[in-house]
Amino acid sequence: MNKVYNFCAGPAMLPVEVMQQAQAEFVDWQGQGCSVMELSHRSKDFIQVAEQAEADLRELLAIPSNYKVLFTHGGGRGQFSAVPLNLGGKQAQADYLVSGSWSSAAVDEAKRYLTPNVVATSRWQDERLVVPEPKEWQLNPNAAYLHYCPNETVDGVEMSEVPDIGTVPLVADMSSNILSKPVDVSRFGVIYAGAQKNIGPSGLSVVIVRDDLLDQSMAHTPSILNYKILAEQGSMFNTPPTYAWYLAGLVFKWLKAQGGVEAMEKRNAEKATLLYGYIDGSDFYQNRIHTAYRSRMNVPFQLINPELDKAFLQQAEQAGLKALAGHRSVGGMRASIYNAMPIEGVQALVDFMTDFARRNG
Ligand code: PMP
Repeated sequence: MNKVYNFCAGPAMLPVEVMQQAQAEFVDWQGQGCSVMELSHRSKDFIQVAEQAEADLRELLAIPSNYKVLFTHGGGRGQFSAVPLNLGGKQAQADYLVSGSWSSAAVDEAKRYLTPNVVATSRWQDERLVVPEPKEWQLNPNAAYLHYCPNETVDGVEMSEVPDIGTVPLVADMSSNILSKPVDVSRFGVIYAGAQKNIGPSGLSVVIVRDDLLDQSMAHTPSILNYKILAEQGSMFNTPPTYAWYLAGLVFKWLKAQGGVEAMEKRNAEKATLLYGYIDGSDFYQNRIHTAYRSRMNVPFQLINPELDKAFLQQAEQAGLKALAGHRSVGGMRASIYNAMPIEGVQALVDFMTDFARRNG
């Protein structure tokens, strides 16, 4: 196989060892003569796979026992609806921080169900994108929750501190940075993530919800989005995405073998430092996010001369560096460097960028 590094924002690279294991047991899982994909979700064997995955995730993130973990459908956007439906039954108002395009999309979806109050919006300051500090946020004391996105995948904006907002439950869309570092789960009411970046294949979403929030749903919440029903039924109210759940379990095992989220944090910091360091030292490329809010997972960058964008992307692809185009809404370039991206991949990108700049400077 040619060595290719895939910088796609999602679906993204998976650890090669995980895919090799899945390949080895694809047709005949554990001597059963069939694929894990073909097992009933209610079979003893699959339930063991499911429970092991949950146990490993709980261990990786040190999830306290008063939190339920749900493995469900609908990706990140499904949760844009599920959150207001599940938490807005008693209080039809909620706070939203808009730090980039995904949190903005979450506000638009929430408007279908309740009245979202935007507490603050990220802004340009001295030509750098910054997120307002929590002390500037216009919080509503009657909000059912505050929703924010600690890592904005399109914009490359990450908030490293968990905001302190008192007793209002904090809801975090961690689709693109879950498992990239330790997190204090007890600070949150709900954490959710679409799987296709740091967890596994698309089609699965993981929700971590504090159990006292399970009785706040709106009456018309669809059962397949209802946290309480999903929790009571072990995420098996309907048929869950079983193969994606199994693969997520393999990724969790891989993470544990790598040293867990503490080791990931260290590796992710090294990768990000290498790439941002190169960009900042170059007069050919730029990143316009304030250094305090730069994402360790998604690194957007622009060529100072955008006329070279097409050539850059074409030649990068030829060099085995895939999917470096920025999101269609913002253009430019973006390197997504999730857990599965090795430092060698980031080094290969920096080497290519150096060479491209030398040839075109
Ligand atoms: N939130 C974030 C932070 C995302 O990055 C994405 C997808 N890239 C979504 C939500 C939407 O996820 P999905 O496509 O799984 O609905």
